[in-house]
Amino acid sequence: MVLEGTCHCQSVRFSVRSNKPYPYMYCYCSICRKTGGGSGSAINLSADAASLEVEGKKNLTVYQARLDSEDGEGGETSPAERNFCSRCGSALWVWDPRWPELLHPFASAIDSVLPRAPERCHIMLDFKPKWVPPSSGKRDSQFRGYPDQSIHDWHQSRGLISYE
Ligand SMILES: [Zn+2]
Repeated sequence: MVLEGTCHCQSVRFSVRSNKPYPYMYCYCSICRKTGGGSGSAINLSADAASLEVEGKKNLTVYQARLDSEDGEGGETSPAERNFCSRCGSALWVWDPRWPELLHPFASAIDSVLPRAPERCHIMLDFKPKWVPPSSGKRDSQFRGYPDQSIHDWHQSRGLISYE
Protein backbone atom coordinates (compact mmCIF):
# COMPACT_ATOMS: atom_id res chain seq x y z
CA MET A 1 0.00 0.00 0.00
CA VAL A 2 0.99 3.60 -0.36
CA LEU A 3 1.51 5.37 2.95
CA GLU A 4 0.68 9.06 2.78
CA GLY A 5 2.04 11.18 5.59
CA THR A 6 2.26 14.78 6.71
CA CYS A 7 3.71 16.75 9.56
CA HIS A 8 1.21 18.62 11.71
CA CYS A 9 1.67 22.02 10.04
CA GLN A 10 1.50 20.43 6.54
CA SER A 11 4.82 21.96 5.47
CA VAL A 12 6.07 18.46 4.71
CA ARG A 13 4.03 15.86 2.83
CA PHE A 14 5.38 12.51 1.82
CA SER A 15 4.39 9.19 0.37
CA VAL A 16 6.18 5.87 0.44
CA ARG A 17 5.23 2.31 -0.52
CA SER A 18 5.09 -0.46 2.05
CA ASN A 19 3.96 -4.08 1.87
CA LYS A 20 4.28 -4.49 5.63
CA PRO A 21 2.26 -1.62 7.05
CA TYR A 22 0.93 -3.10 10.31
CA PRO A 23 1.64 -0.74 13.22
CA TYR A 24 2.50 -3.42 15.74
CA MET A 25 5.91 -2.49 17.14
CA TYR A 26 5.95 -0.07 20.05
CA CYS A 27 9.44 1.18 20.85
CA TYR A 28 10.07 2.56 24.33
CA CYS A 29 13.71 3.60 23.82
CA SER A 30 14.46 7.11 24.98
CA ILE A 31 15.15 8.37 21.45
CA CYS A 32 11.80 7.22 20.07
CA ARG A 33 9.96 8.28 23.17
CA LYS A 34 11.38 11.78 23.23
CA THR A 35 11.38 12.50 19.52
CA GLY A 36 8.20 10.77 18.47
CA GLY A 37 6.06 9.41 21.23
CA GLY A 38 4.98 11.36 24.27
CA SER A 39 2.76 8.52 25.50
CA GLY A 40 5.84 6.46 26.22
CA SER A 41 6.52 4.75 22.93
CA ALA A 42 6.60 5.38 19.20
CA ILE A 43 5.59 3.08 16.37
CA ASN A 44 7.99 2.58 13.49
CA LEU A 45 6.71 1.18 10.21
CA SER A 46 8.80 -0.32 7.45
CA ALA A 47 8.63 0.93 3.88
CA ASP A 48 10.54 0.94 0.60
CA ALA A 49 13.02 3.85 0.71
CA ALA A 50 13.35 4.07 -3.09
CA SER A 51 9.67 4.95 -3.39
CA LEU A 52 9.83 7.96 -1.07
CA GLU A 53 8.47 11.20 -2.49
CA VAL A 54 8.59 14.39 -0.46
CA GLU A 55 6.99 17.79 -0.87
CA GLY A 56 8.44 20.56 1.28
CA LYS A 57 11.92 19.08 1.61
CA LYS A 58 13.33 22.43 2.66
CA ASN A 59 11.43 22.13 5.92
CA LEU A 60 13.07 18.84 6.85
CA THR A 61 15.73 18.67 9.49
CA VAL A 62 17.72 15.57 10.36
CA TYR A 63 18.55 14.54 13.90
CA GLN A 64 21.22 11.95 14.55
CA ALA A 65 20.92 10.82 18.12
CA ARG A 66 23.85 11.06 20.45
CA LEU A 67 24.46 7.67 22.04
CA ASP A 68 25.93 7.47 25.50
CA SER A 69 29.11 5.47 25.64
CA GLU A 70 29.44 2.79 28.27
CA ASP A 71 32.67 4.23 29.65
CA GLY A 72 31.04 7.64 30.06
CA GLU A 73 33.50 9.23 27.64
CA GLY A 74 31.91 11.40 24.98
CA GLY A 75 29.63 9.04 23.17
CA GLU A 76 28.96 8.44 19.50
CA THR A 77 26.46 9.81 17.04
CA SER A 78 23.95 7.34 15.64
CA PRO A 79 24.16 6.98 11.85
CA ALA A 80 20.35 6.75 11.75
CA GLU A 81 18.82 9.91 10.31
CA ARG A 82 15.62 10.98 12.04
CA ASN A 83 13.73 13.35 9.77
CA PHE A 84 11.40 15.84 11.33
CA CYS A 85 9.65 19.07 10.36
CA SER A 86 11.70 22.08 11.40
CA ARG A 87 8.54 24.21 11.67
CA CYS A 88 6.26 22.09 13.82
CA GLY A 89 8.58 19.39 15.11
CA SER A 90 6.58 16.37 13.90
CA ALA A 91 8.70 13.22 13.76
CA LEU A 92 8.32 11.82 10.24
CA TRP A 93 10.65 8.94 9.47
CA VAL A 94 13.98 7.31 10.19
CA TRP A 95 16.41 6.33 7.46
CA ASP A 96 19.61 4.47 8.25
CA PRO A 97 22.51 4.24 5.75
CA ARG A 98 23.28 0.74 7.10
CA TRP A 99 19.95 -0.47 5.61
CA PRO A 100 19.52 2.05 2.79
CA GLU A 101 16.64 0.20 1.09
CA LEU A 102 14.42 0.63 4.14
CA LEU A 103 12.59 3.67 5.42
CA HIS A 104 10.85 3.70 8.78
CA PRO A 105 7.99 6.18 8.91
CA PHE A 106 6.46 6.93 12.29
CA ALA A 107 2.89 5.66 12.33
CA SER A 108 1.97 8.93 14.04
CA ALA A 109 2.78 10.86 10.83
CA ILE A 110 0.73 8.63 8.52
CA ASP A 111 -2.69 9.82 7.36
CA SER A 112 -3.57 6.72 5.33
CA VAL A 113 -5.76 4.26 7.19
CA LEU A 114 -3.44 1.61 8.53
CA PRO A 115 -4.55 -1.97 9.15
CA ARG A 116 -5.07 -2.84 12.79
CA ALA A 117 -2.35 -5.15 14.10
CA PRO A 118 -3.66 -8.49 15.42
CA GLU A 119 -1.10 -8.36 18.22
CA ARG A 120 1.56 -5.94 19.36
CA CYS A 121 5.20 -6.16 20.20
CA HIS A 122 6.71 -3.97 22.92
CA ILE A 123 10.43 -3.43 22.60
CA MET A 124 13.26 -1.69 24.45
CA LEU A 125 11.39 -2.10 27.73
CA ASP A 126 14.62 -1.69 29.68
CA PHE A 127 14.41 1.99 28.70
CA LYS A 128 10.75 2.49 29.56
CA PRO A 129 10.16 5.05 32.30
CA LYS A 130 8.29 3.79 35.36
CA TRP A 131 5.23 5.96 34.70
CA VAL A 132 4.45 4.03 31.53
CA PRO A 133 2.20 1.10 32.47
CA PRO A 134 3.52 -2.30 31.42
CA SER A 135 0.16 -2.88 29.73
CA SER A 136 0.18 -5.52 27.13
CA GLY A 137 -2.56 -7.59 25.50
CA LYS A 138 -2.74 -11.36 25.93
CA ARG A 139 -1.17 -12.08 22.57
CA ASP A 140 1.42 -9.31 22.78
CA SER A 141 5.11 -9.97 23.13
CA GLN A 142 7.63 -8.03 25.17
CA PHE A 143 11.36 -7.53 24.74
CA ARG A 144 13.82 -5.83 27.03
CA GLY A 145 15.89 -4.79 24.01
CA TYR A 146 15.57 -5.53 20.32
CA PRO A 147 12.82 -7.94 19.22
CA ASP A 148 13.47 -11.46 17.91
CA GLN A 149 12.03 -10.70 14.48
CA SER A 150 12.57 -7.92 11.97
CA ILE A 151 9.48 -6.03 10.82
CA HIS A 152 9.70 -7.99 7.57
CA ASP A 153 9.87 -11.38 9.32
CA TRP A 154 7.05 -10.50 11.70
CA HIS A 155 4.73 -9.75 8.78
CA GLN A 156 5.90 -12.74 6.77
CA SER A 157 5.50 -15.29 9.58
CA ARG A 158 1.89 -14.13 10.09
CA GLY A 159 1.00 -14.12 6.41
CA LEU A 160 0.52 -10.35 6.45
CA ILE A 161 2.72 -9.34 3.54
CA SER A 162 0.41 -8.32 0.74
CA TYR A 163 2.68 -9.20 -2.20
CA GLU A 164 6.25 -10.31 -2.79
ZN1 LIG B 1 5.41 20.84 10.12
